[in-house]
Amino acid sequence: MSKPPRHRPPAPVRRAAGGYARAAVLPSVAEVVATAHPGVPLHCLRPHTFRANARRFTGRFPGDVLYAVKCNPEPAVLRALWAGGIRHFDAASAGEVRLVRQLFPKADIHFMHPVKSREAIREAYALGVRDFALDGGDELEKILAETRPAHDLGLMVRLAPPRGGAVYDLSGKFGAPLAEAAALLRLCRAAAPRVGLCFHVGSQCLDPAAYGRALALAGRVIAEAGVPIDVMDVGGGFPVSYPDEVPPPLDDYLAVIADGVARLGLPGHCRLWSEPGRALVAPGQSVVVQVLARRDPAGEDGTRPAALYINDGVYGALSDAGTALGWRFPVQLIPADGRAPEAPPRPFEFFGPTCDSADRMRGPFQLPGDVAEGDWIEIGQLGAYGSALRTAFNGFDQAAWSEVRDPPLLETPGYLAKGSRAA
Ligand SMILES: *Cc1c(COP(=O)(O)O)cnc(C)c1O
Repeated sequence: MSKPPRHRPPAPVRRAAGGYARAAVLPSVAEVVATAHPGVPLHCLRPHTFRANARRFTGRFPGDVLYAVKCNPEPAVLRALWAGGIRHFDAASAGEVRLVRQLFPKADIHFMHPVKSREAIREAYALGVRDFALDGGDELEKILAETRPAHDLGLMVRLAPPRGGAVYDLSGKFGAPLAEAAALLRLCRAAAPRVGLCFHVGSQCLDPAAYGRALALAGRVIAEAGVPIDVMDVGGGFPVSYPDEVPPPLDDYLAVIADGVARLGLPGHCRLWSEPGRALVAPGQSVVVQVLARRDPAGEDGTRPAALYINDGVYGALSDAGTALGWRFPVQLIPADGRAPEAPPRPFEFFGPTCDSADRMRGPFQLPGDVAEGDWIEIGQLGAYGSALRTAFNGFDQAAWSEVRDPPLLETPGYLAKGSRAA
């Protein structure tokens, strides 16, 4: 059996889409490890999980589902989402637009970053992008100037939603406040045949009511502007499970959105959009790391975390586990000598491979107490903002890739049926 390919540069958007040999598909992560003995972080993709999540979300969301490409731009991931029914993509850079266009000539690509370079606007328009987000009059002028004499634009005004409810708050950077948004919407209505409102409640939003509050704000903007809209875009933010964090089911979010949209009294032709990233891709990818060293605390009684030095970290796929956010991810031991992982669990913290002392993941991660140098650990839920955030810092940019058919380590109730397997 061939080893998974290596030496991939960290940023998928920089690689030619044609340059992706498909990795070997193996039945399980344990089998890949037994075959390849990976000495660099091994990214395991589960195309069936990406596909099932896409099918599930597109089947239940009553409108167009735009996949937020930045969350995971790996071509194998994009192909699996396409196979699951995703036809719309939320791109945020010229590089993402090029990548999606190269893979899917017929995809609908929407440029939903509210502050773009002039070059990016020009290139995107030339590649067939017609919808552009904006949150200020200066950006409107840029879009109109760089696409002139376009008469087929869609202009989406990004609102600053009320704070709260999400683990990652994005309201400080983008979004027009109420009065400005109304004035901007009127300007857009005069300049383009299609206008809309969009917002982002923040990523990993655990409070469905946040979408209701943002939609109520959209209603005030529409009333104040006194013009009809053609698109109402509720953005991303839909959450997934992490250890000790089970979000409300997707249906709760969809009910709040349906109610909030109904209150807007939108014209019959108005489209509803969403821009999920995390919810579609988090469970479909895990990373298998190898233990380089183990250090136990002095006077150790098994209650304080022991340290595991591993070959991936916050400059690799594990930045959300770092000291800034300190997220915990599901873990599973794959012993190097094939022994059964039977020792009682105990807490561990991880240190990444770089020389930076911030390359530390406190967890704690619960693993069998006999973890030793050379063992592997599968870390799950890394399909969202995992491989997408890898860097080449300190020379640790190598990774191996494989596709597997076993179920992910953790599933989110209300998204995928439990124990879903590849057909
Ligand atoms: C990042 C982003 C998304 C995706 O957010 P998730 O929380 O991953 O669903 C959607 N829309 C915009 C504009 C974004 O910046």
